[in-house]
Amino acid sequence: MNLSEKQLRYLLEVIEADMEDAEMTADMELRGFLGDLHIQMQAALYDKVNEPKNCPRCKQIYTGFPALSRLDNKSRICSPCGTEEAMQDFAGEPLTNFLKEE
Ligand SMILES: [Zn+2]
Repeated sequence: MNLSEKQLRYLLEVIEADMEDAEMTADMELRGFLGDLHIQMQAALYDKVNEPKNCPRCKQIYTGFPALSRLDNKSRICSPCGTEEAMQDFAGEPLTNFLKEE
């Protein structure tokens, strides 16, 4: 099962809502099941966020949250590249176009 970060975040929200509902009941089995599921989903989300990713702009491997490139509003780049793009944009310089390289 390879879920996207967005799907994992959604599932966590659903499980958390179910956990709140389950607090009202005496169903310990259900509460235990939801608790385990929550821990597993949190671990999966943690792994997803910390999965090594390739930055298309600087070609470096990075972990953590990506930044959205201002170039096309969809490429995911590393955080330092995101900052650099923001500086270029702010200074009115043309953005480094990594999309048409190679
Ligand atoms: Zn980068």
